[in-house]
Formats: sequence, structure tokens, C-alpha cells
Amino acid sequence: MKEAVEEEFNIPGLIDLPITHVQILYESRLQAESNVCLWALTPTGTFTVKLAFEQIWELAPACPFAHFYWANYIPKKLSVFFWRSLKNTIPVDVRIQSYAINLASACVCYVQHRIESFNHLFVQSSITASLWDHFAPPFGIHREDFYDFRDLIWAWFNVVPVGSQMGCLAVFIPMVIMWEIWLERNRRIHNESPASLTSIRFKVVKWIQDINPRLKVKQSSPVIIKNFLASFHISLIHVRRKPITVLRWSTPPPGYFIINTDCASISMTAACGGVVRDNQGQIVVAFHSFYSSGTNNQVESRALMDGLALCQQIGIRRIAVRVDSSLVAGWFHAKGEIPWSLLRWWQRIRELAQDLDLFVAHVYRELNARPDRFMASMGISS
Ligand SMILES: [Zn+2]
Repeated sequence: MKEAVEEEFNIPGLIDLPITHVQILYESRLQAESNVCLWALTPTGTFTVKLAFEQIWELAPACPFAHFYWANYIPKKLSVFFWRSLKNTIPVDVRIQSYAINLASACVCYVQHRIESFNHLFVQSSITASLWDHFAPPFGIHREDFYDFRDLIWAWFNVVPVGSQMGCLAVFIPMVIMWEIWLERNRRIHNESPASLTSIRFKVVKWIQDINPRLKVKQSSPVIIKNFLASFHISLIHVRRKPITVLRWSTPPPGYFIINTDCASISMTAACGGVVRDNQGQIVVAFHSFYSSGTNNQVESRALMDGLALCQQIGIRRIAVRVDSSLVAGWFHAKGEIPWSLLRWWQRIRELAQDLDLFVAHVYRELNARPDRFMASMGISS
């Protein structure tokens, strides 16, 4: 550009049109009244997409609804659906018509025979009205006072201070109502039998019930929210007790043998043992192996491999395997990624499994350890 300016844009080989264009660009740049920073430099002097995003992000006005509906306690699908609503991207009939697509529109609420606009579907339709009229009055909100969707939602979001339990519900409930309306609308569009108003209301109540463990409404909570939940027959959360774990000896299915493995490791030494029993609990064969070192899962994997190999050797085909490690049991069922360092053992396990009829499950160590801890300790001492 500098050279072109020095030559007064007499660039040999270029036709006139682009030269004129370049000249106009150059001159309009000089004629600009003030320098405007269009793009900030990073400290390193480079331009990045991240920087571009930050520029745009800072310039865009903040959505006043955003900090309400992107809250942690709200399931993401509800937040995203609500965000789409605010951006006017929910494909109601009127929205599709706005793309010059000829579409005869009829709202799914049947009785009113209206065109399906966003406001009609989410504020005035018969399904919607019944939901708003059921859930809004306890918050002092009355649907008839609102025509526009945004005004109605703004009233909900601001009716109680944000952060309180009631405030959370005042954000959550309208979002749930909208979600359920959309689901019901789609069901009806696809010719499914319409759900009754009572059952749609019940679905909303179910959402409130499911969110309650996050809100933690309990006996000591304010009366207003307790009364609100009580009016919808939603019980308060109970004091959380540690879940009871039932440990019981599981017998293999008829005709199956059972392998229990248990591993022990001391410093750089690891050993694994196991027993194979018939479904009466009688030990058929026991095994133990000694490994120089390895992670627990590595040792468990090898023990599983050894146990299966032994069964194959003595002609036992139908086996229920119980392992200590839920991770190892998961790997057998292709859940989770097997570390590459263990892949060679797992390749062998898969080969063995092809010839066997296997059930693999995880059991608590206390159950598995009973008979074969002895075998594992033998592995260590050998
Ligand atoms: Zn309607």
C-alpha cells in the first residue's frame, strides 16, 4: 500500500477498476474524522478469535433475564429452551410463516381456533392459561394482567427477591410451564392423544417436587414456601440418612459356576487369588498368582484373566464372575476407557470371554474377601 501511494496508484499491470477501488479505500481512511479502535491488540501483538469474542461480548447489552434463567439449579434443557424463547427461535407457526413459507396455522388448543403465535401459545392458549392460572396466583401474579410474554415472565422473575427459595421457584415454575406447554403442543401436533389439563399440571408439580432437594425446603424454612409446597401436596425434604448398603452373598444362576477374586498388594508386591465354586457354594478349584507390582486395577484385571483361563482349562464354561473393582466390572461391559497399559490383559480377557458364557459383576470387597483373602495372602508369601 505504501508503495502504491508513493506511485500515486499508478500500478503497472493492474486494470483501472481495482486501482480506483483501492484509492477510494485509502482516501476514505484518511478522511475519517477520528481514529476509532476497531480491534484491540493482545499484549503479544497478535489477533485472536478469543479477543474478537471478548470485544463483541463486552459490547453486546446484557440480557436482563439472563442471570435468572442460567442459574445452576435449573436443568440446562430448560435454560436453553427459555433462551431460545427470548431469542424468538421457537418454531411456532407464525415464526415459520415469517420465513415466507405458506403454512396454514391453527393453534393446538382447538377451542379458540387461533393462529399459533408465540404469545398465543405461551400466554393465552387454553392449555397455557390453565397452567398460569393454577400456579401464578400464589405468587400474586394474574395472567389477565399481561398480554406480552416478556412482561409476564418479568413479573414472575421479580416477584420475590432472587436467591430466596421462593425466588428460585418464581424463576423455575414459569420455565417448567413453558417446557411442558411446548411438549404438549408437539404431542398434539403429532396426533398423539392430548393430555388432560390435570395431567399437565401434575407434570409441573412433579418438576417442583424433583427440584426440592436442590432448594432444600425443610421444617425450618419460611412458612410461605412451606405453605406453597403444601398447597401442591409436595412433601418437604427429609434429613438425609446414609443409604443402607445390603451386602449379601449372591449365588450364581443354576448351572453356573462362580469366580470370586481378591487382590492384595504390599509395597512393590501384588498378589491375587480366587476361588471357583459351584452353585451350591462348594469350592471346585482355587488359584493364586504373584505379580511383581501393579496398580489394583491391573492386578484385578490379571486375576480375572487367570481365573477365566483356569476355567477354560478345566472345562467350565458357564461362569458368574464377581470382582472387587467396579471399574474392572465396568471395563468388561465396555463402560469407561481401559488404560492403555492394561490393554494387553484385556485383549486376552476378551479372547477367553468369547469361548465362555459369562456374567461379570462387581461385589463389595467384604463379600468377596471371605474365602479368598487366604489365597491372596498365599500369593504374597510365595
Ligand atoms: Zn389456541
